[in-house]
Amino acid sequence: MNTNERFLDANIPDEMAASIRPKSLCDFIGHEGLKQNLSVFVSGARARGEAMDHVLLYGPPGLGKTTLAHIVANELGTNFRATAAPMLTKQGDLAAILTSLEPMDVLFIDEIHRLPTAIEEVLYSAMEDFKLDIMLGEGPSAKSVRIDLPPFTLVGATTRTGLLSNPLRDRFGIDLRLSFYSPEDLAKIIARSANILGTPIDADAALALARSARGTPRIANRLLKRARDFAGATGAGRITANTIRTTLFQLHIDGCGLDEIDREYMSTIVRHYAGGPVGIDNLAAALSEPADTIEDVIEPYLMQLGFVQRTPRGRVITDAGYAHLGLEK
Ligand code: ADP
Repeated sequence: MNTNERFLDANIPDEMAASIRPKSLCDFIGHEGLKQNLSVFVSGARARGEAMDHVLLYGPPGLGKTTLAHIVANELGTNFRATAAPMLTKQGDLAAILTSLEPMDVLFIDEIHRLPTAIEEVLYSAMEDFKLDIMLGEGPSAKSVRIDLPPFTLVGATTRTGLLSNPLRDRFGIDLRLSFYSPEDLAKIIARSANILGTPIDADAALALARSARGTPRIANRLLKRARDFAGATGAGRITANTIRTTLFQLHIDGCGLDEIDREYMSTIVRHYAGGPVGIDNLAAALSEPADTIEDVIEPYLMQLGFVQRTPRGRVITDAGYAHLGLEK
């Protein structure tokens, strides 16, 4: 398994991933306060017959940002259009999407922190006044045209709000942060998915799996799928605590949910940099992983566990991190 695979639904067939994905706020497990607020905002917009305010969702990968964007469209009873910032390379790419929206539609832009500045600027008037300001032609004959857009709701998702410019950030009326899930909530997600997949799972097995899912629903569903394979392989079909032990052992996942990539990250800092501090670029070179993958995918959960600290001088392994690796500082 490579780092990115850990966060993809690639090994879950599309129709299965779609059936597991919650469609309504009631099905979305955990984050109770966030759901209550969102439900008020959706009802308000529906009652007024207006487009709902723009929403910024942020949090590490796999916590439900895309799922929530779909849910907002479902609850508003509107169309859902999705794109990702890396796919928008020219102003025209965004203009084409914006002009094809229908009134009240939800437009989802994933990885919105990656929007090129020129495209981001087009978004400002689109978000604020539902107007599209674009330049036609080049050089002295270029002229600016202003096109009316239908009212729409932009849902932007980002793993890092720090990389978002202030003008863009300020244009989102609703700011929602998704944090890691508790094992109890993840166990509910696992039980729900197992039910949809038609695989019986014991309550203690669901909780054991949840504890090793790095607080992340996508990982919980992926591990469930693997556990289902092992349950099938051993003939029983039902997922028991024993199946989970076998699954985690075979996938080299430890009691905290860390896998080989996490342990390699921590042991590289210990072995090559005396426990840190080490800068992200050196670490990326040592691990042969892109720096942003390390920052988005590996580090957030290790920091949540208190095994790693980001300091101004670089990353440092904490005492708890050393203890987890079974090493003396
Ligand atoms: P993100 O966009 O943040 O990377 P996704 O919305 O794609 O994450 O979520 C990954 C998967 O995890 C989804 O397919 C969905 O099945 C599941 N999931 C996420 N959040 C929840 C939740 N709160 N309740 C149930 N399932 C969830």
